Amino acid sequence: MRKHIILFGPPGSGKGTQAKKLEAKYGIIQISTGDLFRYEMSHDTQLGLKAKAYMAKGELVPDEVVIGMLKNKVDASPEAKGFIFDGFPRTIPQAEALDQLLEAKNEKIGRLIALTVSDGELINRLLERGKTSGRTDDSNEEIIQNRIDVYKKETSPVYGFYDAKGKSSSVNGVGTIDEIFNRLCEEIDSI
Ligand code: AMP
Repeated sequence: MRKHIILFGPPGSGKGTQAKKLEAKYGIIQISTGDLFRYEMSHDTQLGLKAKAYMAKGELVPDEVVIGMLKNKVDASPEAKGFIFDGFPRTIPQAEALDQLLEAKNEKIGRLIALTVSDGELINRLLERGKTSGRTDDSNEEIIQNRIDVYKKETSPVYGFYDAKGKSSSVNGVGTIDEIFNRLCEEIDSI
């Protein structure tokens, strides 16, 4: 059975950093919808153009756009040992679509692991990242705050969606990269 993990948490909680380390350790593939959109935008594709205005404001890209892109990505790697979903699902309809997509392959999510970090720490981390990431949505405090608000309102219910299936757990997202990585590995190894 393939191992599929949702790495969950607000913007700036360290999902991308940790997903790359998990990918290296477990040989499962990271799918970051944010990275996919940034790639599309940098190549001026139709998909990139659709996402651009939402991303600039820190709003969510409409579900049907994200879900279509995600399906293509999953279907493009049938040989993968599993996936680490990073930044997806961000709404309940996205979670339902993901479950359906996996169910059609007789597969399912193994675990949702949430990284917990205080709002103050998130804002500091994102502003710091904005100095070098070239991401305009990381450089403006108002947009950062909006991304955190959107997370709380639209995305955090996804934790409960998987918790109801006994699949959600939280890990302290503050510490060194290796400390946090070890906490995540403990969770994954217990699946
Ligand atoms: P991220 O790199 O995960 O912080 O995502 C950057 C931006 O891409 C978000 O603020 C959204 O505008 C958009 N985005 C990424 N993933 C999703 C998703 N699953 N649903 C909707 N919008 C998304």
